[in-house]
Amino acid sequence: MALKPGVVCGEDYVELVNACKEGGYALAGVNCVGTNSVNAVMEAAAKNNSDVIIQFSNGGTQFFAGAAMEDAFQAKVLGAVSAAQHVHLLAEHYGICAVLHTDHANRKLVPWIDALVDHSEEYYKKNGKALYSSHMLDLSEEDIDDNLNECARMLERMAKLDMSLEIELGITGGEEDGVGHDIEEGADSSHLYTQPEDVLKAYDLLSPIGHFSVAASFGNVHGVYKPGNVQLRPEILKNSQELVSKTHGTIDKPLNLVFHGGSGSEKDKIAAAISYGVFKMNIDTDTQFAFSEGVGKYVEEHMNAFKHQIDPETGAPLKKFYDPRKWLRQGELSFVNRLDEAFEDLGSAGRSLAK
Ligand SMILES: [Zn+2]
Repeated sequence: MALKPGVVCGEDYVELVNACKEGGYALAGVNCVGTNSVNAVMEAAAKNNSDVIIQFSNGGTQFFAGAAMEDAFQAKVLGAVSAAQHVHLLAEHYGICAVLHTDHANRKLVPWIDALVDHSEEYYKKNGKALYSSHMLDLSEEDIDDNLNECARMLERMAKLDMSLEIELGITGGEEDGVGHDIEEGADSSHLYTQPEDVLKAYDLLSPIGHFSVAASFGNVHGVYKPGNVQLRPEILKNSQELVSKTHGTIDKPLNLVFHGGSGSEKDKIAAAISYGVFKMNIDTDTQFAFSEGVGKYVEEHMNAFKHQIDPETGAPLKKFYDPRKWLRQGELSFVNRLDEAFEDLGSAGRSLAK
């Protein structure tokens, strides 16, 4: 199996997802906020000969366009377009396959996704592929039928452009960029676990329309919390796969599953989730920290250069220390190092399909 390096969409995307499931590994879905993080993801993927998913939250795309843009909605749309164009131009030169994706969109962000699909329609006419490989709709706060009906409407639009849709069933704890739920100590946690019957319902409705994946909840939580609050139960994923394959007589593991809130998870639970058909694990919290840790270390070591242009004691110019490329690069390198570990944990290192 070999794919052209660059952004993968449509059939190539499906091939990549299937290769993950058959090969027992998963891709990191890495949240990015600017060219520093996007380039670090491509650098890490090339370094590890791994394919990767570059994704943006709505706030990430707004930041990509520039935090001062007055119209926040416009910034979220244009930032997402700008980010995608950057990746389309550069990913093939890194020699890896990159999936372009947007993270959680709840009901109030549905117009954001519709606007991005509008842009993909234009892009498709000119380039024969969509701007994004996939988008996520997270209507998990809503009634299951409302959730799935809206997903079906969106997938109908997207399938015409060979795009894939990620949906959410059950609730990932914590919050990701303003979308989500706080975990209360001692609260009833049954809603944190996806019901296999709901997954079957989604399969029945969406699989005739197009390609989709499911962010199923099995006790996963966004962010890093004290251990012990929630119990990860990856066997829920297995039960969902079995219910669908038994009901429809499909191949093993018919569902494409996504693991949200993977930061800080136990490695054996990650491995179990992958064995049950998880092809994508999101990573944000840990790479955010890595970037900041890299910058922080540099600032500590060169504090003078952040206060003076000329060293007050020696009179030496400090330009080569305060040049933003110097400290941003330390953030990038630390980000890359954290992804080395993620690719190793997910088993994607050394397995890029790009040829
Ligand atoms: Zn998430």
